[in-house]
Amino acid sequence: MEFKKESVDIKYEIGDDIGRGQFATVKRCREKQTGSEFAAKFIRKRRGGGRRGAKLEDIQREIEILTETNHRNIINLYEVYETNREIILILELVDGGELFEHLSERDKLCEEEASSFIKQILDGVEHLHSKHIAHLDLKPENILLQDRGSTAVKLIDFGLSRKIAPKQDVRAMMGTAEFVAPEVVSYEPLSVATDMWSIGVLTYILLSGASPFLGENQQDTYHNITSLNYQFDEEYFDGTSELAKDFIQNLLVKDQRKRATIYECLKHPWIKHYLNHYQS
Ligand code: ADP
Repeated sequence: MEFKKESVDIKYEIGDDIGRGQFATVKRCREKQTGSEFAAKFIRKRRGGGRRGAKLEDIQREIEILTETNHRNIINLYEVYETNREIILILELVDGGELFEHLSERDKLCEEEASSFIKQILDGVEHLHSKHIAHLDLKPENILLQDRGSTAVKLIDFGLSRKIAPKQDVRAMMGTAEFVAPEVVSYEPLSVATDMWSIGVLTYILLSGASPFLGENQQDTYHNITSLNYQFDEEYFDGTSELAKDFIQNLLVKDQRKRATIYECLKHPWIKHYLNHYQS
């Protein structure tokens, strides 16, 4: 995708901040000619040997992945601008807030609602995995609701995503402790299955409001992950169906090769069961 060098203000009116990441600020913006709204993600470039700002190769990778994807459950990228200090991504605006906020208002979700969210996430992830792209940062902060009160969700933040061809050796220590798979903690090769683990954690959280591996500190959390130390506590899972638990158990599997794949998850009865009952 072309990096436009003219000022972004020529075409867009830049509005309020709507989000912030480690090196990025996301602002609402409006295309002057059409009045259409977008989200502008301003990513600070790393300069020299400093540690502030994102590495150009990482920004380029995020852009490449967004250019390659095209799916209703994945954020769309329209244009890229470049200044001395920043790269600016003009993204589809997703206006309903983070699934994380929705969840904190509600404590936990009923199975119909949780499985409807998970189904959409699976659909988006299937698109990624069919292209050998691993998101590698799936968590409620990176899943946005389309509009307030909407049940449609989109995946955002491809800042850690990687294209991983079969047999390619990609290792990385990254992501948010609570959601990372054992192979991330032990610095072993990653694969698209690394996302499947995170979907297991996500499903657990949506259904219970509790985090399966979260410990007193990061080291404790990592230890819980690598020793597969989690339970379905009665306190939180009272009334949760066996099907839902089975779905989670198929994902929280230490050996990546034995973990359920995206295709298996889409066929799982827990996902299929509610589909006919709950269509958005
Ligand atoms: P980073 O890569 O620095 O983590 P993100 O892409 O996660 O940045 O964006 C930071 C925050 O901005 C997100 O958590 C979200 O709340 C908000 N955000 C990002 N993209 C959009 C978008 N397209 N529409 C609306 N809000 C967004």
